[in-house]
Amino acid sequence: MSETPLIYENDPTYKMAVKQLKETAAILGLSDEVVEVLRHPERLLQVKIPIRMDNGKIVVFLGWRSQHNSALGPYKGGVRYHPNVTPGEVVALSMWMTWKNSLAGIPYGGGKGGIRVDPHKLSSRELEEMSRKYFAAISRIVGPDVDIPAPDVYTNPQTMAWYFDEYSKIVGYNAWGVVTAKPVDLGGLQVRVISTGYGVALAAREAAKKWIGGLEGKTVAVQGFGNVGRYAAKYLAEWGAKVVAVSDSKGGIYNPDGLDIEEVMKVKNETRAVINYKNAKRISNKELLELDVDILVPAAIENVITKENAPRIKAKIITEGANGPTTPEADRILHEKGIVIVPDILANAGGVTMSWIEWSHNRMGCFLTEEEALNRLDSIMTRNFHRVFDEWQRKYSEYPMRAAAYVIAIDRVVRAMKLRGWI
Ligand code: NAD
Repeated sequence: MSETPLIYENDPTYKMAVKQLKETAAILGLSDEVVEVLRHPERLLQVKIPIRMDNGKIVVFLGWRSQHNSALGPYKGGVRYHPNVTPGEVVALSMWMTWKNSLAGIPYGGGKGGIRVDPHKLSSRELEEMSRKYFAAISRIVGPDVDIPAPDVYTNPQTMAWYFDEYSKIVGYNAWGVVTAKPVDLGGLQVRVISTGYGVALAAREAAKKWIGGLEGKTVAVQGFGNVGRYAAKYLAEWGAKVVAVSDSKGGIYNPDGLDIEEVMKVKNETRAVINYKNAKRISNKELLELDVDILVPAAIENVITKENAPRIKAKIITEGANGPTTPEADRILHEKGIVIVPDILANAGGVTMSWIEWSHNRMGCFLTEEEALNRLDSIMTRNFHRVFDEWQRKYSEYPMRAAAYVIAIDRVVRAMKLRGWI
């Protein structure tokens, strides 16, 4: 074995993903050989994207696409535009997509892409040119049956429209299934935008049924009021819970009698901050996490529940909307306190599941109504929640619920690899 690390091996996010893989492998009794197969992506492509900027100068951006595992189907996962993107982060995220898609029971492997760029510093023409060139550069390894990208941090349906168009020009036909979360006019689903938050609310609803006698009248705090948090809050309120606190990066608001979520959404859209909502007390994000509520939904960023604040957390259920909001140390502390943590790979899979619904209907040349798509998501998320919860209670209750989710997800991938003769 060489002592020189590969370009992704020293990345902290990648190291965390490998640690989780090894812990799950120990529970499943997987050999070191299988771990070695699973810890590397099947393919990692780096592409160079030189752009002539509006000022006439050429700037070179670097992008990656990591295809982690295809045992269960074509690679699937978003593309993020962020100045801190590294190959290691992209590989780790692609590994997590393998587990998330496996757990969701959809016929996809895991992939992820990224460009190291601050997209806010680009004009719309520069952004379009960079997006098109990136997709052209990875076009030989993507495709409706091969690898199906989608949005992630700082990419959106417009980005997907450019990808779709670029790819369709290269192959010579409208390749509807090459990306998901497209604009509605290009075969996307109206409900894709709400689907992750809706799925988080579904996961919280099912957890509430199992743990605290249902949602009716139960109190909820939601950290983050973006794409995920706002719709989780909206549906939990619609289904009878009392959302007493929400926050964004500028701070939080709290009213023990409940917030009017439609009104908070209006205020957030108009002023870009929930703290401008009138009928509530201002609180910090730190205070929000420690409120005496029944359900806590961290839906902003990673690593917000740590060994420092975990002992003070009072919620009975934590439903992870964000990716990685709870550190492993906090996971154990909360588990010992009897708090149920519905893990990110289960709770926030609504987006990718809706992407699968979009993709499969694109391929059949037909569209679903909004109601049909949401009902479909409801039945898939509900079924998956109970499968993980029951397995956790039956076999793995000494660990946090996350362990059961990882065991089910990784076991399914390993079984597919065995059947295919890969291991
Ligand atoms: P977003 O950018 O739409 O919203 C993020 C929200 O978090 C904003 O309200 C922002 O103000 C708030 N925020 C940022 N920093 C904060 C901080 N330090 N404290 C409190 N609030 C803060 O993003 P999103 O799409 O809602 O994603 C949120 C999380 O969910 C991320 O971890 C993302 O990876 C994860 N996720 C998103 C999707 C999806 O479909 N959008 C799918 C799966 C997972």
